[in-house]
Amino acid sequence: MNKNKKNSRRQFLKLGAGSAAGAVIFLNSNPAKGNTSVDYVKTDHILHPNSAACLVDITKCIGCRQCELGCRISHDHKIPEVNTDNIAEKRRPDSKQNTVVNNFKIDNSDNFVKIQCMHCLKPACESACIVGALTKRADGPVVYDADKCIGCRYCMVACPYEIPAYEYHNSLTPEVVKCDFCTSLSSDDKKESGPAGPSCAKVCPTGALLFGNRETIIKIARGRIEADKDRYFPHVYGEFEAGGTSWIYLGPADFSNFNLPPFEKVPSSQLTEAIQHGIFKFGAAPVAFYGALAALMHFKKRNNDNKETGKEKSIKDGDKKIEDSSDV
Ligand code: SF4
Ligand code: SF4
Ligand code: SF4
Repeated sequence: MNKNKKNSRRQFLKLGAGSAAGAVIFLNSNPAKGNTSVDYVKTDHILHPNSAACLVDITKCIGCRQCELGCRISHDHKIPEVNTDNIAEKRRPDSKQNTVVNNFKIDNSDNFVKIQCMHCLKPACESACIVGALTKRADGPVVYDADKCIGCRYCMVACPYEIPAYEYHNSLTPEVVKCDFCTSLSSDDKKESGPAGPSCAKVCPTGALLFGNRETIIKIARGRIEADKDRYFPHVYGEFEAGGTSWIYLGPADFSNFNLPPFEKVPSSQLTEAIQHGIFKFGAAPVAFYGALAALMHFKKRNNDNKETGKEKSIKDGDKKIEDSSDV
């Protein structure tokens, strides 16, 4: 893994600003802006209003997995080839790949969905980590500091998206591994792969991934829904789920079809904060600690149950693959 942790916050914001400029151009050219009939609500309470985000438009993804490859190459994960033979397998990010793309069939139509750390606005991993090894930056990324990590893996238990992986194969210096929003890349790495945005978004050939300012990304997502109500399910996933995330999804159907659970607006970090409080404020009281863990597991189970019983509310006719990649 590339360990250049000197990459500055200023650089990340610069990237976000560059992409946001392009995003704004798209927004201003969108004839559907201003219509308010979809089911989102105002976002004036959102944390980190100037942070970066990345949009995943499931309707534009063709499952080529170039994003996986771009991520692995830029992070020195030694699996160079792209394999699409196992596209129907429900893979998870692991210690050798920060992101994966899976196929979710609906009525024989393909729906390719990229997953990675969601870079939550109020991350449960951060609040569960008792030594501060995971931190939400004001500019968007949730970053990991291996020097602080004690290997307790509470972050893995806490994450509502079950994202952090652990280098079990590395017996001497194991680390927690997850998407870092490309903050670990050196300036040279970034120059090699283009002017703006994380590696995965840069290499996507269809424009299914769009990096920019979070508020702008959400406006763009709403604009796309309004512009093509047959194409999109009327919901911007990640605007509020689990307290809001920095990866935002648009799709053709209810997101429970794509293993994106209908988390409530309350951040799951509120539960994991209780773990820290139990340890530090009450002298590691076992009751408080295990009570918080039980509450967290209940939160995750309830959302998994919701996910399994979630009904598809709207599937557009056919057209699950990209038709038009020119609007980004
Ligand atoms: S998705 Fe999980 S690992 Fe990523 S920021 Fe959220 S809680 Fe942390
Ligand atoms: S943002 Fe960077 S680390 Fe995260 S999935 Fe994309 S390429 Fe990988
Ligand atoms: S997000 Fe883009 S690069 Fe990744 S599989 Fe979909 S189309 Fe390919």
